Amino acid sequence: MKCYVCAQEGKETEAAGICIVCGMGLCTRHMVREDVDLWEGGYPFPAQKLEKKLPRILCPECAVALKE
Ligand SMILES: [Zn+2]
Ligand SMILES: [Zn+2]
Repeated sequence: MKCYVCAQEGKETEAAGICIVCGMGLCTRHMVREDVDLWEGGYPFPAQKLEKKLPRILCPECAVALKE
């Protein structure tokens, strides 16, 4: 898969990741990595604070959209 953002700029770059929201391919230059807190507790699991963060990869557009 090629990076979708690069393709729009007329370049061909092999994608290194995929946006988890829209599914577009992204090279390392265009992927936005954000760490999100794992959900706490919730049925059927006992409520507990989780130390780990869940990494996620977003395209620039989805990263902006999710911040609003
Ligand atoms: Zn790219
Ligand atoms: Zn996206």
